Amino acid sequence: MDFNDSPEEAKFRKEVNDWLSINATPKGKSKDSATLSEEDALKVAKSWQTKLYDNGWACLHWPKEYGGRGSTPIERVIWGQEASNYKLPAGFFEIGQGMAGPVLMMYANEEQKKKYLPPMAKGEEIWCQLFSEPGAGSDLAGLKTKSVLDGDMWTINGQKIWTSGAHYSDYGILVTRSDPTAQKHKGLTYFFLDMKSPGVEV
Ligand SMILES: Cc1cc2nc3c(=O)[nH]c(=O)nc-3n(C[C@H](O)[C@H](O)[C@H](O)COP(=O)(O)OP(=O)(O)OC[C@H]3O[C@@H](n4cnc5c(N)ncnc54)[C@H](O)[C@@H]3O)c2cc1C
Repeated sequence: MDFNDSPEEAKFRKEVNDWLSINATPKGKSKDSATLSEEDALKVAKSWQTKLYDNGWACLHWPKEYGGRGSTPIERVIWGQEASNYKLPAGFFEIGQGMAGPVLMMYANEEQKKKYLPPMAKGEEIWCQLFSEPGAGSDLAGLKTKSVLDGDMWTINGQKIWTSGAHYSDYGILVTRSDPTAQKHKGLTYFFLDMKSPGVEV
């Protein structure tokens, strides 16, 4: 197997490096974001994500129509290799861009995709993962949060834990038990939840 860049990959690597060298700070030369307050680190991360978006470098793996770059898997690897030389914010957008976004692309209607995906790609809106519960960690199928459909409204009751970033998130991906009579790995329903919905306590 040849691990060297093809001519196209070398061209892409140069393009990545040219852009990063102008727009980012090499490791070791910037104030470590660990010394920033969470609020400031979030501001820095949002502004960096918007810059990536405006310059066509956000969500490399997403289709262009939703704000991504439509890159190949190898291009993602090249970006990761080159970006690892720079001090870049991380940790705020992974659930949205890595988990919620692809599920939205697969299952949501066009109106929902247009509403939620671009702000997610731009870093304007943050998503969290509402899966784990006091009795459902590694064994997620043990979850008990109940969802009941009444007319066209769902009512959800339960408790989630370990929800990284819940306190600054705009939306969450939420797994609930909608059919308590089904086998435990079935009867589950996955929601996109507005974290400002009535009844949500963080
Ligand atoms: C830093 C951090 C951030 C997290 N962020 C989130 C988040 O944002 N959203 C979210 O939903 N969750 C989050 N989690 C939860 C995480 O995804 C796991 O679900 C959770 O840590 C595992 O549950 P537990 O800690 O209760 O351990 P348990 O599930 O109680 O597991 C304890 C031990 O028992 C073993 N075990 C459990 N069940 C079985 C089984 N059936 N068979 C064999 N062995 C078993 C496990 O391997 C482990 O060694 C986060 C966890 C951490 C540490």
